[in-house]
Amino acid sequence: MLGLRRYKGTQIDLWQGDITSFAVDAVVNAANEELLGGLGVDGAIHAAGGPDILAACQEIGRCATGDTVITTAGLLPATHVIHAVGPVWSKDSINQNQLLKKTYHSVFQAAESLAARHISIPAISTGTYGFPANEAADIAFLATKEFLDSGRKTTLGRLTFVAFDGKMYETLQQHLFQRFPDELDDGGF
Ligand code: ADP
Repeated sequence: MLGLRRYKGTQIDLWQGDITSFAVDAVVNAANEELLGGLGVDGAIHAAGGPDILAACQEIGRCATGDTVITTAGLLPATHVIHAVGPVWSKDSINQNQLLKKTYHSVFQAAESLAARHISIPAISTGTYGFPANEAADIAFLATKEFLDSGRKTTLGRLTFVAFDGKMYETLQQHLFQRFPDELDDGGF
């Protein structure tokens, strides 16, 4: 594992591969507002997790952009799925960066409501939703830093950011190291 940081007691690491193979307390899905399943991470989670996840999504109904909902993880090795709806990127939009940041904050909040210790997180909005990888990676770790800097004691001891391909892995690594320059920064704890 080449991408690894520890900040205020929480490990932040990177992984390349299929997010559905992770045994974690909660796996984050890059979902859509209708919670109906779709392409990319969403399709993989529903395919591997089985019909219980879709049934739970249908019971909930919808999720607004920037928000999250929690369901069972069905047959996945995870315990829960946090369905996160990131913004669709558009060259004319002015608040999509804020919305993507809000999505990550909602992910962390949802994870804490589950008292989760370890979650895996895909590069939300960078697939079908078209967000440029560099901007999305920068926002992901900005939100992470804001969350860990908030001063509250968190249950989250480990955040694993998952890239599907090598290029996204490198992008995540570059932004992780930029935002968290020290390998070990446990200052204050
Ligand atoms: P969105 O609709 O939010 O853009 P996507 O699922 O289309 O979500 O893509 C988000 C990111 O997840 C992309 O970088 C894509 O390459 C990646 N991805 C797609 N499938 C998987 C998977 N099975 N595991 C991990 N990452 C994945």
